[in-house]
Amino acid sequence: MKLTSLKLPMLGILIAALPLAAGVSSLFSGSELRPSDAIILFDGKDLSQWRYADSDKPADWKVHNGYMEVRGGNICSKQEFTDCQLHVEFWLPSMPDAKGQARANSGVYLQGRYEVQVLDSYGLASRDNDCGAVYGVSAPMVNACRPPERWQTYDIIFHAPKFDANGDMISKARLTVLQNGVLIQENVEVAGITTAGKDGGLTTAGPVILQDHGNPVRYRNVWVRPLEGRQ
Ligand code: MG
Repeated sequence: MKLTSLKLPMLGILIAALPLAAGVSSLFSGSELRPSDAIILFDGKDLSQWRYADSDKPADWKVHNGYMEVRGGNICSKQEFTDCQLHVEFWLPSMPDAKGQARANSGVYLQGRYEVQVLDSYGLASRDNDCGAVYGVSAPMVNACRPPERWQTYDIIFHAPKFDANGDMISKARLTVLQNGVLIQENVEVAGITTAGKDGGLTTAGPVILQDHGNPVRYRNVWVRPLEGRQ
């Protein structure tokens, strides 16, 4: 997809992200740019929209100062989605002695099945398992990471796979990702699910999942706009 053919919602993201790209990061944090049609999954107050992914227990990640912090397992949104735009802000702890996948690992899953990797990959040559990767499928086109202990953003446009009346897939899952306002994945197709994705059949809606990979990663300002039927 060429920039000239971008649909309006995406163009809006790019315009909204311009001040960030120029270094005015405060304009892009908090809730002031949250669209009026967004479903708020986390506004810094509580985890009422979340449960643990492997049980029906209420999510019990630490909530403090407007953010939530990983503990006790993966959490998933109670509401499930197909095509959507997802906004997430994340903060990575500084772990200078850890390397590779052990360095501030987490992840954001669309439809419960497709992981956009969260990792401290600052300054590295990004591979398909680094921060901003569609895990195991596609490395980010550029490393847009900030250093650890700074807030970062993902804006993800997700299209669920589509099927015909016979149940045959007619289009694969597709992800477009902006990290900190920079386009890092454009319309990347995924044939199956990414590693560690939840497999419940590809045809059903699925939750947003935030991964507990054992590192104290933080999230804030999580919202989603369902897009199905609106394009
Ligand atoms: Mg991960």
